[in-house]
Amino acid sequence: MKKIVFVGAGMATLVAAEKLARSGRFETLVLEKNARENISYDWHDDINRAAFEDNLLPMPQEGTYFTKRNWTFIPPSENAEVTLDIPEDQLDLSIERRLLAEQYIRRAEDVVTFRFSTQADALIIEGGRVVGVRAGDEKIYADLVVDNSGALSKLRESLPEDSGVLRRPKEDEIFVAYRAFHKKQEGSSDPESTNRAYLKHLGEVGISWSILDPSGSVNVLIGRVGGLPKETFINAFRALKASNPNISDEIVRGGIICKIPIRHPLERMVWDGYVAIGDSAFMTIPMIGSGVENSMRAACILADVILSADSLDKQTLWQYQVRYYLDRGATHMGVDVMKRWLLGCAPKSLDWLLQKGIVGKKEMAAAATGKMVKLGLGEMIGKLFKGISKLGLLVSLSNVLTKSNRAARLGRAIPKTYDEKAIAKWQAKITKLYR
Ligand SMILES: Cc1cc2nc3c(=O)[nH]c(=O)nc-3n(C[C@H](O)[C@H](O)[C@H](O)COP(=O)(O)OP(=O)(O)OC[C@H]3O[C@@H](n4cnc5c(N)ncnc54)[C@H](O)[C@@H]3O)c2cc1C
Repeated sequence: MKKIVFVGAGMATLVAAEKLARSGRFETLVLEKNARENISYDWHDDINRAAFEDNLLPMPQEGTYFTKRNWTFIPPSENAEVTLDIPEDQLDLSIERRLLAEQYIRRAEDVVTFRFSTQADALIIEGGRVVGVRAGDEKIYADLVVDNSGALSKLRESLPEDSGVLRRPKEDEIFVAYRAFHKKQEGSSDPESTNRAYLKHLGEVGISWSILDPSGSVNVLIGRVGGLPKETFINAFRALKASNPNISDEIVRGGIICKIPIRHPLERMVWDGYVAIGDSAFMTIPMIGSGVENSMRAACILADVILSADSLDKQTLWQYQVRYYLDRGATHMGVDVMKRWLLGCAPKSLDWLLQKGIVGKKEMAAAATGKMVKLGLGEMIGKLFKGISKLGLLVSLSNVLTKSNRAARLGRAIPKTYDEKAIAKWQAKITKLYR
């Protein structure tokens, strides 16, 4: 029986390993660096119901989630607000991450072998292919290594340069965030809009949020692209508290700094004996860093491709990448173009775009859910009337929308079969587009 080693017990692994093992055709081993009781995060995150419903996967257990409320977006000057009105049945679920992971581990453990508190350090490469992983002094051999160990994967870094797989992301492709639930300040009143996201907070490259949690605490995030120096954090926390007096200094959950990938998916996710998935393949929505639904979708695609072809060779694995790109990866290429433009946009321009309604509920809802921002000709003319005073900015917005569409088209033009030359050419076009 062929052996597959999964590195990292993220949601992608928990879904794919279970499916592959349950077929009875593969032996699956999961290596996870954390102890079982410390897996994932000690808080809830927002995941769309589609992650479960569309993939026919078990819903989180009752009592481990609630329906998230609509976002209110606030531009840098803080003198405008856009509150979304996504209907209740389409809103994300805020799900306890650790409990969801534990539910999926229990579901898989009769067929999958888990080794917790085991960190994989590097890939073992022999004869020009990956043949396993090294964990401390131990060598673990396998027919395929599935890398689910995150954006800064040590395994990906240990691939040879000529694999064509990106080994390290650029600094500005990583979002560094403080996340904590703070005790609500005694005597403070509740804000009218509960989920408040500050875009380019203080004019800096990143966001902050303050969300009044149903538990009564306040969910705080302060994140900046590329890094979060101590001074930046202290200033941002002070400013966030001034705008949201319900935040106290006392932390009740979390309180850690984490790294989230915010770029389009890897141009190459596969090599001989190796495949990347989830954050390790940069599958988050580039605009907001949400990745759980994408990881679960990718896991279903990977398992399906392997089981259908009954093969682990790179020609088969390439089909996984093709299907992922056609499913959503290509769209995320377009979203990445928009994200780069917004991050480079002057704070005053962002203020103006939101105040004038040039970027309104529809556009913000698309951005927040990883969809393409679309503007028809009629809509664009309407916006032109509202924004004639800033024609240059509108032209720039129109150009970026065009480029965003071009990026998505390029993503969909992924070579449909494994052809080294065609893939290298496609990859070069992508590099040029984002240069
Ligand atoms: C503050 C914050 C808020 C977020 N909010 C949301 C949200 O609301 N919605 C959403 O969809 N996403 C959110 N995300 C992103 C989301 O957490 C990730 O996209 C998602 O968890 C990726 O899943 P994955 O399957 O790639 O595995 P991951 O969750 O990345 O899991 C990787 C696993 O690999 C393990 N590991 C790492 N290195 C090794 C190694 N060398 N050896 C063995 N094990 C290793 C880790 O311990 C971890 O368990 C958020 C992330 C952060 C940090």
